[in-house]
Amino acid sequence: MKYISTRGGDAVSLEQAIMSGTAPDGGLFVPDALPVFECAAFDGRNSFSDVATRLLEPFFAGSSLSEHLPGLCADALNFPVPLHRLEGEVNGLSVLELFHGPTAAFKDVGARFLAATMVAILEGGQYARPPVTIIVATSGDTGGAVAAAFHRRPGTRVVVLFPAGRVSPRQQHQLTCWGDNVISLAVRGEFDDCQRLAKAAFADRDLSARHHLCSANSINVGRLLPQACYYALASLGHYRRTGEASHFIVPTGNLGNGLACVWAKSMGLPIDRIVFATNANTTIPDFLASGEWAPVPSRATLASAMDVGDPSNMERLRALCGDADALRDIVRAYPVTDDNIRETIRDEYARHGSAWCPHTATGFSVYRALPEAERRDGHWVVVATAHAAKFDTIVEPLLDIRIEPPPDLAALLDWPTQFDTIDAQLSEIERRL
Ligand SMILES: *Cc1c(COP(=O)(O)O)cnc(C)c1O
Repeated sequence: MKYISTRGGDAVSLEQAIMSGTAPDGGLFVPDALPVFECAAFDGRNSFSDVATRLLEPFFAGSSLSEHLPGLCADALNFPVPLHRLEGEVNGLSVLELFHGPTAAFKDVGARFLAATMVAILEGGQYARPPVTIIVATSGDTGGAVAAAFHRRPGTRVVVLFPAGRVSPRQQHQLTCWGDNVISLAVRGEFDDCQRLAKAAFADRDLSARHHLCSANSINVGRLLPQACYYALASLGHYRRTGEASHFIVPTGNLGNGLACVWAKSMGLPIDRIVFATNANTTIPDFLASGEWAPVPSRATLASAMDVGDPSNMERLRALCGDADALRDIVRAYPVTDDNIRETIRDEYARHGSAWCPHTATGFSVYRALPEAERRDGHWVVVATAHAAKFDTIVEPLLDIRIEPPPDLAALLDWPTQFDTIDAQLSEIERRL
């Protein structure tokens, strides 16, 4: 398989697509064709890593990594992604729980797979020479997942840039508790300043070459591929029991997770409807309604990891499916306000006794707003993107309960933290490399 830019240009190898992050023409790398599977192709494969190994085989074919693929999947995808059925719902409602990884958000899936894959590429010695330095700008969840995934991986070093004073206390802990090969820097400014700094570092040819700078941001194709695998596992599980396809509701920001669901459906997995839930950043629903792509600056909401006004992965979705008219046949999108989020967190707790994070709540809010006839029509799955304990300062006061962090997160919260605070200037990063 080769990888091409959404804007044309020459095809590159999997290794090049992963190590370079974005295409030289500014586009995003996509597979040159998506393989199509019969459900029977997955017979006998029941675990996350076994399903992933089969699904990703064509994407690794012809690369130096193809024989390593089973090992990469076993190493990176080593935590459960259970499909949890909720009792007492009309026709069947399940939650796909993607928060059982080390930093309690679905970003662990992509980050761990990318880290394992990059290390294997470095060990091959053909495409890049260690040590490499991964720079990641984060508004909260991505930086923790990437730091955790690369922590103590040989030949790698990570620089995490986060906006000082603008992430939740638990998120900050996850960004700053690593040490070893992880450097944590609080930047005086906003997320956009962190992103600008990261881009400036990559654009500085001398700095970039001297430190072998790499990007681990969410548009790296190495993060997207493994995300299609949990949609495969979940939809196959239901299909094997009932012969039915499933509908998915995906909390959406930069549209990586939603795109992975569309990829899984396009590859023949038993997925029927796909609905994106956004917060008050409504660029995607507005586009589907009007046909005009009109990105705007992001707005701060309770579901902060979805505060994206210009979702990058729309470029990939349009490359695959076409424009708004064509897209409307495949996906829908509905916005959710902060008031809806608060109300949904309370309602779902009253209904099922489960506390959901604000991002997951957008998915439930969209499900509850569907017409009853549609809710009765088939098996719906709400995708749970993070554990509520990560967003304790929002969820605990709403429910007046204490939410116990899952064991991995609890362990991290005991680690001491360490970080430097810097001005938003490239020289400040350079000094610390
Ligand atoms: C990143 C994130 C999202 C948004 O996912 P995208 O792939 O950017 O659409 C949703 N929920 C949580 C908890 C996240 O960390």
